[in-house]
Amino acid sequence: MDRSLKVALVTGGARGIGAAIAARLARESWRVVVADVDARGGVSSGGRFAICDVSDESAVNALIASVTTQEGRLDALVCNAGVNERKPIGELSLAQWLRVIGTNLTSTFLLVRAGEQLLRASRGAVVTVASTRAHMSEAHTEAYAASKGGLVALTHALSISLSPEVRVNCISPGWIFTKGDAPRPGDHAFHPAGRVGTPEDIAALTAFLVSPDGSFITGSEFIVDGGVTRKMIYPE
Ligand code: NDP
Repeated sequence: MDRSLKVALVTGGARGIGAAIAARLARESWRVVVADVDARGGVSSGGRFAICDVSDESAVNALIASVTTQEGRLDALVCNAGVNERKPIGELSLAQWLRVIGTNLTSTFLLVRAGEQLLRASRGAVVTVASTRAHMSEAHTEAYAASKGGLVALTHALSISLSPEVRVNCISPGWIFTKGDAPRPGDHAFHPAGRVGTPEDIAALTAFLVSPDGSFITGSEFIVDGGVTRKMIYPE
C-alpha cells in the first residue's frame, strides 16, 4: 500500500452522491475508504469498504480505529450519509426523529470527534453534506430539516474549533437525481441552471474543497441547487 497517498473517508458512499464522491476522489489518486450500512458499496471507487452505522458511537470509533491501523492517516472526511423520514409530526415517533437526527447530524459529531487527531496531523479537511432543506421546507419534513440545519451550524462551529489545522465546509445540495423516476422536462426547466443536479455536481465541489485549491475556504456553506433557492415564485 502506498502510504504517501492521501486518504479520504466517505460515509454513505455505497450509492448515490457518496458513491460519486468516492469515485471522483479515487480518480484524483486519493485512497478512499467507503463506510456505509449497505454492504454493496465500495466497488465502484475501488477503495476499501467498511460496514458502519454512522449513528452508532462504538461503530464510528471502530471505523476510525481501522483507518488508523490500515490506512495510517486521514486527510479528508466526507460526512455524506443521510436518511429522510417524511411524516406529519403527529405520526412521527421519537425513534424515527432520533434515527434521522442520529444519522444526519450526530454522526458528524461522532466522526469528527473520533478522527480529530488524524485530521489535525494531516492538516486535513471535512466536508459535510446538508441540504437546501436546512433553509426551506415542504410540509412534514421536521426531522430532516432540523438535522440539516443543525449540520450547517455544526459545520461552522467545527471550522473554528479545529482551526487552523483542519478546514470544515458544508455542501447543501438541491435536487440531485439519484433514484426514482427520472426528472421530467418541466423539472429541468424549473431550475435556473436548466437541469436537475447529478451526483457528479456534488462530487466535483467536494474534490475542490478538500484539495489545496480550497485552502482559504473554511466554515462556509455552498448551496448547489441549480439556482432554485434564488428563484422568486408567485402564486399562479
Ligand atoms: P442515498 O439514499 O442514495 O444514499 C445514502 C447512502 O447512505 C445509502 O447507501 C444508505 O444506505 C447510507 N446510509 C443510510 N443510513 C446510514 C447510516 N446510519 N450509516 C451509514 N450509511 C448510511 O442518498 P443520496 O445520495 O441521495 O444523498 C446523500 C446525502 O445527500 C444525504 O445526506 C442526503 O440527505 C443529502 N442530500 C441529497 C439530496 C438529493 O436530492 N439526492 C438533496 C439534498 C441533500 P441504505 O440505502 O441502506 O439506507
